[in-house]
Amino acid sequence: MSAHEAANLTREETAARATVISLRTVRVELDLTTAPDPARTGFTTASTLTFTASAGETWIDFLGESVDRVVVNGAERPVEWDGARIRITGLADDNEVRIEAVGAYSRSGEGLHRFVDPVDGQAYLYTQYEPADARRVMACFEQPDLKGRYTFVVAAPAGWHVLSNQAVAKIDQGIGVQTVEFAETLPLSSYITAVVAGPYHQVTGEWSRPSHDGAEPQRVPLGAYCRASLAEHFDADEILEITRQGLDFYDDAFGFPYPWSTYDQVFVPEYNLGAMENPGLVTFTEAYVFRGASTEAQHEGRANTILHEMAHMWFGDLVTMRWWDDLWLKESFADYMGAHASAAATRFADAWVSFAARRKAWAYQADQLPSTHPIVADIPDLEAAKLNFDGITYAKGASVLKQLVAYVGEDAFFEGARRYFQRHAYGNTTLDDLLVELSGASGRDLTAWSAAWLETTGMSTITYDRTAGELVQTDPRPHRLAVGCYSRVDGTLVRTDLVETDLLDERTALELPDADLILINDLDLTYAKARLDERSLAAVEEGLSTIEDAHARALIWSALWNATRDGELPARRYLAIVRHHAPAEGHIGLLTAATLNAAFAVGHYVADDARPEERTAWLETTWEQTHRSTGGAQLVWARALAAAAAYSDAHAADLQGWLAGSDAPIGLDADLRWSLLAALSATGHATVLDAEKELTRDDTATGRTAQIRVLAARPDADVRAEAWASAWTDTTLTNDHLDATIGGFRAGESRALIAGFDDEYFARIRDTWSERSIEIARRLVTGLFPDADSLAPVDAWLAENDDAPAALRRLVIEQGDHLARDLRVREAQGS
Ligand SMILES: [Zn+2]
Repeated sequence: MSAHEAANLTREETAARATVISLRTVRVELDLTTAPDPARTGFTTASTLTFTASAGETWIDFLGESVDRVVVNGAERPVEWDGARIRITGLADDNEVRIEAVGAYSRSGEGLHRFVDPVDGQAYLYTQYEPADARRVMACFEQPDLKGRYTFVVAAPAGWHVLSNQAVAKIDQGIGVQTVEFAETLPLSSYITAVVAGPYHQVTGEWSRPSHDGAEPQRVPLGAYCRASLAEHFDADEILEITRQGLDFYDDAFGFPYPWSTYDQVFVPEYNLGAMENPGLVTFTEAYVFRGASTEAQHEGRANTILHEMAHMWFGDLVTMRWWDDLWLKESFADYMGAHASAAATRFADAWVSFAARRKAWAYQADQLPSTHPIVADIPDLEAAKLNFDGITYAKGASVLKQLVAYVGEDAFFEGARRYFQRHAYGNTTLDDLLVELSGASGRDLTAWSAAWLETTGMSTITYDRTAGELVQTDPRPHRLAVGCYSRVDGTLVRTDLVETDLLDERTALELPDADLILINDLDLTYAKARLDERSLAAVEEGLSTIEDAHARALIWSALWNATRDGELPARRYLAIVRHHAPAEGHIGLLTAATLNAAFAVGHYVADDARPEERTAWLETTWEQTHRSTGGAQLVWARALAAAAAYSDAHAADLQGWLAGSDAPIGLDADLRWSLLAALSATGHATVLDAEKELTRDDTATGRTAQIRVLAARPDADVRAEAWASAWTDTTLTNDHLDATIGGFRAGESRALIAGFDDEYFARIRDTWSERSIEIARRLVTGLFPDADSLAPVDAWLAENDDAPAALRRLVIEQGDHLARDLRVREAQGS
């Protein structure tokens, strides 16, 4: 077994390990005092595990620079380490195993990430483990169902904030060094333990609630952190306000007191995901610290993420899935709760609007890929687990829970959740454990519901046959749904009727009054593609933006986009609707989605011969609206303009003028300036000197990343070749710098410049997969996939690489399917 294979733990072998091992405690001693010295690549880590065993040997997981010492029940043992697993022999019934090792500081966001801020030279550390990178920091049993009580002891430079899941128990101050010991945790899975250390900027607060039995109130200290150089942009008050609102809400809704002792939220650099729900210590992407102007939709998105992670304190952390097959048990619920709690407890009362437009689009997209899977998935190993943090597990799962709430009622749904927490606190579960509680609370047998929604793939497409007076669904499922009827009244489209019904079979009779627009799945209760009939489409073309209810507009935008992606609605007709109605779209989240979808449609779905004309029309719309609109809408249009300007230089001179300080209709913050410069670079209107000058205005981590992109975007064959080589071979690139390099390489209308690399792509990906970490390899495989006009090379690679790792094949199959859809939809456009 290679180290790469040894690292890919399987469901079968971890299940076997769990039957013979019962973990009690893990003491982890980390020495992070070397972190400020960039010449030091590693840190020492010592783990002491106590556990019972019913077998004479097992293995403990570790990835890092070296394993130096293994002590089993007081006896020194030879180090038997294959790069991923440490063989442990000589086990008794009760065991204490100590492992001393050296871990590596990470540049890929996996394990213990080290970041040095170019503004002030300060080093910042944070850990990120899910699904299986705790073993990059400590020797451990890397599987969710071996929970243990952890004690972290961290040596770090004096003056740093050092955080972990629990409150600090004691601090020893030395000269220039502090050793922080944290209180022992309650039982935790390894993937949700965490350590954060660095000179972070700190804001503190408190949340308190009367206790559930009327005794001592519960008091939880709150902390919010970001890098010191971002402190001036950090709106901690809003973050803490949402936090208190969320804790109040969940405390009531879940009927189980907040299970952990602290609630720290840290916004960290070069983060691979939106956020991670480590109990008591949630980590977030720094993109949520708004350096410049931000829209209400961005604030809503951040609040949603805060509440999503907070829901995990119960769903996921308190009760944890047994294995990654049931990842949905936490992610679907947290995704649902993010929107539900936003609407119920915060100022973002219309959170379900964004859910309908954005999250569901992600679900519909993922569910039409060849790699789609049931919400309850089959995850044989860790590589499969890593790729399953997808639109099915999150957004489809949440959509289906929304349908479940419509089916059993909100009260029964939350009652089921309360019973589930009471019964399984600090344990591990599977689907059946949840269904039992939901069935008990609702008095309904959910076996059929589960079979129809959790254990199948794909979705129904629902249409209304006006002649027959029937709802018609493909791929029939039981739906609880609403149908809205809208008619023109004084120049606006007004809902005149709303009918709720159950749909079971392929055709269901439904008498509706005569209406200009029939909106299937109004209220967004179910999960399905809802089509607009021709008369409804005509009404939408005329009056979409006159509909007062943003939620209804969200569903119409969604129906239009699904039909465009399927080639049923011609892309140019869709784009005409966007140009006509997006300028009047008052919901910033819907406007943002419409502008992003329009740009995508121009690039992917419009027929080749019509593309130049559509590029121009879209650029002019964004240009005009950047001048006409105000507030958040203007910011959305300006960002859309920056994206569109990378494909056409019609306004290059104007934009150069804006950057030089004249005539801009909108204040240009640092991020918008970089976006405009990237567009100018892609069309050949920005030089190396321009990029250097911009960096002197914004010499920050974000600025340096943006500069990489600007430089790599120059439309010059040598520049692009250099970016290509750097992306594949420069192993010192961080995750963010790799993305910037790839973004620059692909910027603008550049196919002619980069098509020559297609063959090399297919020749490289397999070695890359085995040599690089999965996070970096995934960015390369998806980011550099050729935007070719034929599927032949994809098919050839798949045929020749039948034996490639399943996770790599999944990525190539998905990218191939995106390309196949592009080609198919373009083909369907006619002339
Ligand atoms: Zn989550």
